[in-house]
Amino acid sequence: ETHYENGLKKSRQGFGAKLNALFANFRTVDEDFFDDLEETLIEADVGYDIALKISDALRDEVKLENAKSKEEVSNVIINKLVEIYEEEGKDEDRRLQTAAAGPTVYFFVGVNGVGKTTTIGKLAHRYQEQGQKVLLAAADTFRAGAIQQLEKWGERVGVPVVSKGPNSDPAAVVYDAVQKAKQEDYDILLVDTAGRLQNKVNLMKELEKMARVIAREIPEAPHEVLLALDATTGQNALTQAKQFKEVTNVTGIVLTKLDGTARGGIVLAIRNELHIPVKLVGLGEQMDDLRDFNPEEFVYGLFK
Ligand code: GDP
Repeated sequence: ETHYENGLKKSRQGFGAKLNALFANFRTVDEDFFDDLEETLIEADVGYDIALKISDALRDEVKLENAKSKEEVSNVIINKLVEIYEEEGKDEDRRLQTAAAGPTVYFFVGVNGVGKTTTIGKLAHRYQEQGQKVLLAAADTFRAGAIQQLEKWGERVGVPVVSKGPNSDPAAVVYDAVQKAKQEDYDILLVDTAGRLQNKVNLMKELEKMARVIAREIPEAPHEVLLALDATTGQNALTQAKQFKEVTNVTGIVLTKLDGTARGGIVLAIRNELHIPVKLVGLGEQMDDLRDFNPEEFVYGLFK
């Protein structure tokens, strides 16, 4: 998929190129090589922990058989990158859960500016293309522009948006949306929520109330609570994720703006430190710039 490759161009030119440069000067695996490798990995935001895991894995391999060719060494690293991601979870963990019957409901959480609304628009477009009936709910009633922004996406994609105006009760918006979704046989309901981490107790209560309203009408809903994180913010994204984890049961991560960073290693750090699967990645601002996350595609995309 050329789209995926385009989206990873910066990371390939940054992270990927640095690793490739390591191999361009490759003579042997010695302490200098390990130092350079660890530094490159840490710079790419994979985190200290993973950088050490990878260099340890390489050390073990080298112990087994002393002389290692450039190809063998790079294969060990690439395989280990994929393995570190995959050992945490199986394929199906990365797939978005859907309702057995009735509408599937996803909540979107995340601080302002990370790309939450854009992701909802992109997903609405995806489901629409698949012939599914999609409804959006503007439950971020706190931020002035949020409702209009979602409505704009609704227009672009051609799906209706349920809203009740600024400062209305988000749970009331959700209530209206779920009624409409049930009565009019919608397949998917995507709910935009406010991302205020300033007051965690309030946010927690608000999300709980919305979840209760939904679950009363559709047992097991919401089927996903998706946290949007901006890949360009690096370790800050990790901090945000930890805070949201305290507030609500995040079931998946949407890593946005992966096209805007040269340090794509943050994907691995998130998986390793939070144990929450990255389910979707944003690779641009347009409607079709959203992909299911696939670790193999991702790692190989870095080294193309
Ligand atoms: P929200 O406040 O979390 O709802 O964020 P928005 O959806 O409004 O997005 C904030 C900005 O990030 C907008 O300018 C989007 O076009 C941009 N954006 C969102 N996702 C991506 C992405 O995957 N790649 C790039 N390059 N820009 C993105």
